[in-house]
Amino acid sequence: MPHASCAHCGCRIVDHSTMVEREGKTYCCVNCAEADKEHGD
Ligand SMILES: [Zn+2]
Repeated sequence: MPHASCAHCGCRIVDHSTMVEREGKTYCCVNCAEADKEHGD
């Protein structure tokens, strides 16, 4: 897995300092992690 993609907006994560991992998914930033969470299941 050379490049991770944001599970919310789909952009390629190049900056690992802002990367967020949540429930096995990877997000480019905390905003995406929060936004995805609000969609819920
Ligand atoms: Zn994102």
